[in-house]
Amino acid sequence: MLTTINEVKRKFDVEEIRNDFPILKRLVNGKPLVYLDNAATSQKPQAVIDALTQYYTFDNANIHRGLYFLSELATEQYETARLKVKELINALSASEIIFVRGTTEAINLVASSLCRAKHFKDGDEVIISNMEHHANIVPWQLMSDRKQIKMKVIPISDSGELDLEAYEKMITEKTKLVSVVHISNSLGTINPVKKIIEIAHSHDVPVLLDGAQAVPHFKVDVQDLNADFYAFSGHKVFGPTGIGVLYGKTEWLEIMPPYQGGGDMIRTVTFEKTTFDDLPRKFEAGTPNIAGGIGLGAAIDYINQFDRNELVAHENKLLDYATEKLSHVEGLRIIGTAKEKASVVSFVIEGIHPYDIGTIIDTDGIAIRTGHHCTQPLMARFNVPATARASFVFYNTKEEIDKLILGIQKVKKMFI
Ligand code: PMP
Repeated sequence: MLTTINEVKRKFDVEEIRNDFPILKRLVNGKPLVYLDNAATSQKPQAVIDALTQYYTFDNANIHRGLYFLSELATEQYETARLKVKELINALSASEIIFVRGTTEAINLVASSLCRAKHFKDGDEVIISNMEHHANIVPWQLMSDRKQIKMKVIPISDSGELDLEAYEKMITEKTKLVSVVHISNSLGTINPVKKIIEIAHSHDVPVLLDGAQAVPHFKVDVQDLNADFYAFSGHKVFGPTGIGVLYGKTEWLEIMPPYQGGGDMIRTVTFEKTTFDDLPRKFEAGTPNIAGGIGLGAAIDYINQFDRNELVAHENKLLDYATEKLSHVEGLRIIGTAKEKASVVSFVIEGIHPYDIGTIIDTDGIAIRTGHHCTQPLMARFNVPATARASFVFYNTKEEIDKLILGIQKVKKMFI
């Protein structure tokens, strides 16, 4: 069922919320799990797990094609999930919501299809930024066997903010797309994407936003942003893996050719010629991740119970608390100190490799990410091979941050 804005919202209570996530009760290495790797993937509430179990236990059938009860039921649930996504990001129409595997596939789809649509000519440019995930770098390089697309990279400041002046100067008549991250997974920077879009549109250039970290953090409104494309992953927004979303404005999706061919995306097929189905089916070849879509719908229902501003406020408090505590650790340097930040803290400690930090605190059940976070060019910009990264969502607590700090102190003692 779709939620409406007039509904009474569930009161935010972190302890109660934690009870909704069964994994948070488990022990790791004999200690209560402290899960601080939410930017990599978030945990799943029981409601999402139940939706998957319900589907596979009672409702499983292939969708769109069957004229029997179960097929119609599965189809209805899958298409209802699409409507929930449409409402979540305030798209104009459900046909602008393409189900894909995740953010990575969404960006590959746009790159591949725009190239085949002859949107790009050899020598045309796509503007990305220095803080992109590899998912928004490599797809553009892969196009080189079709089109020689030049990537131009918006530089970033030492605090991890985009240089908007440099960005504006980069746009030329060869610029055919701006493709940037909404919230950086490595730095936490919330980019001024509305401004970025305004600038691009004043030059008639469309914009793709990588929203993998943004949709889990706050309310995204693609119409208000005026984004041409928006990509995100279900598994980071408390839903299952293997399902994600590409939003595209109808005017773009209509002129783009299919990404893959096969069943479910056609209207007629002969050996000579195929005609394609309407949006969004044109982009959804083959049996989709039906359970994943339904699970994502359940995740959206879960989030919609709350006033999202309360969730954001809690995450911001955790960010402030962690930043303050970490900044008192001697020898620790936070990478990414933008004014507008989401609840991601990347750091390095002089003389200790991030892998050692991650491995040692894991023995106390604390899960953080260590490595390049699929942003190697960003690591090069900050002249570090890797960072340790703690990322929080609404089910995390100050006590968990205290445990992280204790863990870091323990690591430091081992290395001094
Ligand atoms: N972009 C960003 C900013 C991300 O954080 C991630 C996941 N780490 C991705 C893209 C890729 O997402 P996925 O692996 O779910 O396709």
